[in-house]
Amino acid sequence: MIQKIKALEPISRKLEPMGSQRSYWNAAVQDYADNFLDNFNQHTTYVVSETMGKEIYDFHFEENGKSIEEVLQCLKDNVDTPNLNPASGGHFGYIPGGGVYTTALGDYLAAVTNRYAGIFFACPGGVRMENMLLRWMCEMVGYPTTALGNLTSGGSIANLSAITTARDAKGIKAKDIERSVIYMTAQLHHCVQKSLRIAGMRECIIRYIPMDDHFKMKPKDLNQQIQKDIAQGLLPFMVFASAGTTDTGAIDPLEAIGIIAQDNDLWFHVDAAYGGFFMLSDTLKPAFKGVELSDSIAIDPHKGLFLSYGIGAILIKDTAALYETHRYTANYMQDAFTLDEDPSPADLSPELTKHFRGLRMWISLQLLGLAPFKAALDEKILLCHYFYKEVQKLGFEVGPEPDLSIAIFRYLPKNRNANAFNQEIVDRIMQDGRIFLSSTTLDGVYWIRFAVLSFRTHLEQVELALRLLKKLV
Ligand SMILES: *Cc1c(COP(=O)(O)O)cnc(C)c1O
Repeated sequence: MIQKIKALEPISRKLEPMGSQRSYWNAAVQDYADNFLDNFNQHTTYVVSETMGKEIYDFHFEENGKSIEEVLQCLKDNVDTPNLNPASGGHFGYIPGGGVYTTALGDYLAAVTNRYAGIFFACPGGVRMENMLLRWMCEMVGYPTTALGNLTSGGSIANLSAITTARDAKGIKAKDIERSVIYMTAQLHHCVQKSLRIAGMRECIIRYIPMDDHFKMKPKDLNQQIQKDIAQGLLPFMVFASAGTTDTGAIDPLEAIGIIAQDNDLWFHVDAAYGGFFMLSDTLKPAFKGVELSDSIAIDPHKGLFLSYGIGAILIKDTAALYETHRYTANYMQDAFTLDEDPSPADLSPELTKHFRGLRMWISLQLLGLAPFKAALDEKILLCHYFYKEVQKLGFEVGPEPDLSIAIFRYLPKNRNANAFNQEIVDRIMQDGRIFLSSTTLDGVYWIRFAVLSFRTHLEQVELALRLLKKLV
């Protein structure tokens, strides 16, 4: 047996590359990253490709490793070139992506050291770091110091955690689900419906509350519907509001909804996945008045804090409720649950072993400071308003004045179907590739969306978008 072990050792030791090998790989990867970052002007935002990355399937896993040059070339050709480049400042579609460089430094260190920040006992400093980030966000939204939450992989999982927590906190059992009522508008993000199904609440009653002409919930209608449902013996238990919808960036009247929720003992959840970090801006903070009345908030640092994909957060006012739903223990964990000075993420999340995702956010805030984030957020708002004004001068019709950094617009041609014409604008923009726009349909009407949230979007990219649109119409 010893001989067999000894024979395996030199091969298995390849998992620990030597210093010289590491340096070589690091240099090649650094070169690739620098090339990506330094040549942004030559990048297009959308690349129409023939193969669509299909050749990745021809690049098989083999017994022996390949050279870094080969591997990076495959990555470049199949992954980092075709279709959408979410890191580009010309990305105005959906909700644009981030990718602030310091995220990569945090991830690199988290991966190399592989600290386990799920349980206080294993990495008290890492757990404190994640809790410090959560408390910082709780303070931003106006929650009390006892509030906490959890760093998630994104907004969808954050919303799911809020739903399961609300369900348990309001004592909704399986037998109650068909009588339980949830309130939202049709503009709420679709991940909530997905989460309701995952949470076993498919059969609950969903009331879509009417909206005003700015696509915001009408609180009076909400209240009337709740009273009607109570009179019918149903169980109203949760209301959702958006602080920045995906379609138009609208913020629901949070204060009015919060008061109604309190009066009727409903769990009030705010989906601020896209819009939440605009609260860092002193000028925009008032638009979120009432958000502090909520019981939970979903917010995405990989959107409004411009970090790379893979970090969201659920903030919960009553930490005990989050704990109630997520804490569980097992015999093999008996050494880990000592008296914790700070709550462990594993007790507040479905995850046990997890990515130390706090480090990427912490290192970014520490290295860059808060000022550039605040300036970038204010800049995005102004860029969107500038676009909103200028696009009208080109003859486009626009939707409501933007609350945040998303505007909708469309062209009304004289002798052609408007929906088809605007669809063609989006297609032509995609073929050009320098910028990227996406669209939506509201009440049967096709609208083009202009969403500004990339930290790389500055006046230059907005002017380019306006020039392209001018040429097309
Ligand atoms: C993006 C988004 C979500 C979903 O978040 P992910 O991070 O993509 O999972 C939920 N709500 C709103 C308003 C969003 O913009």
